[in-house]
Amino acid sequence: MIPYGRQDINDNDIQAVVDVLKSDFLTQGQIVPKFESKIAEYCGVRHSVAVNSATSALHIACLAMDVAESDIVWTSAISFVASANCALYCGAKIDFIDIDSATNNLSISHLKEKLDLAEKSNKLPKVIIPVHLSGQSCDMVEIYNLSKKYNFKIIEDASHAIGAEYNSKKIGSCEYSDITVFSFHPVKIITSGEGGMALTNSEKLSKKMMKLRNHGITREKDEFKNNSCDPWYYEQLNLGFNYRMSDIHAALGLSQFNRLDNFIKKRNLIANKYNQSLSELRLSLPVLEKNCLSAWHLYIIKIDQENCSRSHVEIFNLLRQEGIGVQLHYIPIPMHPYFTHLGFNINDYTNAKSYYQRAISIPIYPLMSEEEQDKVIKSLRKIIF
Ligand SMILES: *Cc1c(COP(=O)(O)O)cnc(C)c1O
Repeated sequence: MIPYGRQDINDNDIQAVVDVLKSDFLTQGQIVPKFESKIAEYCGVRHSVAVNSATSALHIACLAMDVAESDIVWTSAISFVASANCALYCGAKIDFIDIDSATNNLSISHLKEKLDLAEKSNKLPKVIIPVHLSGQSCDMVEIYNLSKKYNFKIIEDASHAIGAEYNSKKIGSCEYSDITVFSFHPVKIITSGEGGMALTNSEKLSKKMMKLRNHGITREKDEFKNNSCDPWYYEQLNLGFNYRMSDIHAALGLSQFNRLDNFIKKRNLIANKYNQSLSELRLSLPVLEKNCLSAWHLYIIKIDQENCSRSHVEIFNLLRQEGIGVQLHYIPIPMHPYFTHLGFNINDYTNAKSYYQRAISIPIYPLMSEEEQDKVIKSLRKIIF
């Protein structure tokens, strides 16, 4: 089976992990801060907080912004469930914005409408979490301008988008957001095994997140409530968690980071070939925005159901039978039983519903060979008509 995505681990990556295993510190050594500063420098952002997953990063990002019971958080109807769960962990309410039928990212016109209504009923969100689906940025200038008008904070869920660019700036620069979150899960652009990072230009948010990932503990004297100079002394100031990244994971992430730009180049080459080779078929190809460089975490095609003689699920099954490991990213979040139980209904999200009836992720990953890609293209040509 040609998978839809997979990691690319080389000998340097393996050696980097082995080196940590032979060193004095397996966690909280020198490697995590080194990984953090490399990523921050690359993205052009001031602070970065490494954690054990993007899910943890989203959670402490919400907490750092004081998201709590009386608050509302909005995210895109099409994302991985973690984009929504972070708000629920804080006891806040979640709500969804329908997607744009062209880009599959949250729809700016729906967002505007929803904000206008929310303002009238006094139910404006405290935080909005735009998701850069497949690795192409949302329209951040628009979202940023709306955040000033309606007074909400922005957390970019850039789990798909490390290495991507928006208006010639790296995603993660936080030019148009308060915090940006990356995932280093193995199928994402670079991996640390499991891992995530939260980036921000705010020293205050960074310090809060640093504490929250480590039980709410500080060792910085100027933060102490009590007056102690004892050498063993530290204080717990908030209810935090153990969300730390280990040096073993950070070593893998740091080593992978050296190849980030190569990964992005390779993913763009594969995407370009798909763009050219699939344009005649009865499907919609990804819509490319001029001011974006996509990280191409996913290559999502959408079946043209009106003109296609086969159904979405037939095409999906036939591709799997041909050994093409297609996937569907994602089941709309409001459709999951947990969320329907909270009162959500997919019929309120027309574009997300239609996306779910059409979308298929086809294989894309740096180690994909030309033969493998040719096989995918050949199978698509055979099956879709
Ligand atoms: C993968 C992913 C996450 C969660 O990442 P983990 O590192 O696995 O916790 C969150 N949001 C999106 C959009 C993702 O794709």
